[in-house]
Amino acid sequence: QGFAQLGITGTLLTAAAAAGMTAPKPIQARAIPPFLEGRDILGVAQTGSGKTAAFSLPILSKIAGLGTRRRPRTARALVLVPTRELAVQIEKVVRELARGAHVSTALVLGGVSRHSQIKRMAPGVDVLIATPGRLTDLVREGQIVLSETTWLVLDEADRMLDMGFINDVRRIAKATHPARQTALFSATMPKEIEQLAATLLRDPVRVEI
Ligand code: AMP
Repeated sequence: QGFAQLGITGTLLTAAAAAGMTAPKPIQARAIPPFLEGRDILGVAQTGSGKTAAFSLPILSKIAGLGTRRRPRTARALVLVPTRELAVQIEKVVRELARGAHVSTALVLGGVSRHSQIKRMAPGVDVLIATPGRLTDLVREGQIVLSETTWLVLDEADRMLDMGFINDVRRIAKATHPARQTALFSATMPKEIEQLAATLLRDPVRVEI
């Protein structure tokens, strides 16, 4: 069984194969079909399980059909992560999988120049990968607008909790489109994450690896 059987088609299939992904990992096999159907996902999964492609492939698949007209300062999809390193790594995977498709990405993280991030966001992007602190600042200033964001991924939610980002995460989620589709991934499921999932996800499919 390959990615085609899961509903992934066209240039995405080619790009996945070029990235060495031909046989789906368990989290991909279980998360991609419901994600493509529009369901919210609650994934209990570790780093290294293949969760990046599990959310990137269906999001890219949906974005591929939308055309290139974007509203200024908006992002169609937002991937929220705890650390800069993880953000950089995810953007690399997204770009690799989006090769051959007209998909734009942006990184918004703390510790580096805001100016280039603001410039990058100005025309609007397809996939924004961000850490909560800097994103909160730029949203508050109106440099980034999340009201058109219809896909939201919270990656390593337990680490965002440990790092004290939980209120930023809630505020950011609240700023996105009310009819968004959401996926939350966490290696562990402490009570606070269960509560966060209960407020942010709508009837999620639970995938535990
Ligand atoms: P992740 O958990 O998303 O960080 O992925 C862990 C590693 O597994 C990365 O190096 C991916 O390139 C690799 N990977 C993800 N999915 C697959 C797949 N279906 N086949 C082979 N390698 C994969």
